Amino acid sequence: MIDCLFCKIIKGEVPSEKVYEDEHVFAFKDIYPMAKEHYLFIHKEHSENVNDISRNDPSQLAQIFGAIEAFTKSNKLEESGFRVVSNIGENGGQTVFHTHFHVLGGEKLKGFGA
Ligand code: 5GP
Ligand code: ZN
Repeated sequence: MIDCLFCKIIKGEVPSEKVYEDEHVFAFKDIYPMAKEHYLFIHKEHSENVNDISRNDPSQLAQIFGAIEAFTKSNKLEESGFRVVSNIGENGGQTVFHTHFHVLGGEKLKGFGA
């Protein structure tokens, strides 16, 4: 049994501020927000990073992005715009090794040419 913070958040063993949940996907507020709105979308099946998912079960990526679509459509984010980021490995700045997609918005974001 792997000791994974985000698996514990899914199970409710570590508290989080849930913003979305369906059969496959769980999303919650980032504890250190980098924008006015900052959420983390994760699959309920553990994987380490996006390449790990792509190799083992790429349908999980469609489930995560389907959840992001449903969530952002249900609030102002789709209309006002948002950014999706996934950090991979040391140079990417990944600190939690359960694949996650940062969804950032609620204000004009800087960086990436903006
Ligand atoms: P990474 O650096 O791996 O791309 O992103 C990990 C994210 O998880 C960071 O933005 C960090 O703030 C967030 N995080 C780390 N521990 C916790 C926690 O216990 N609860 C919540 N809600 N977010 C966390
Ligand atoms: Zn995990």
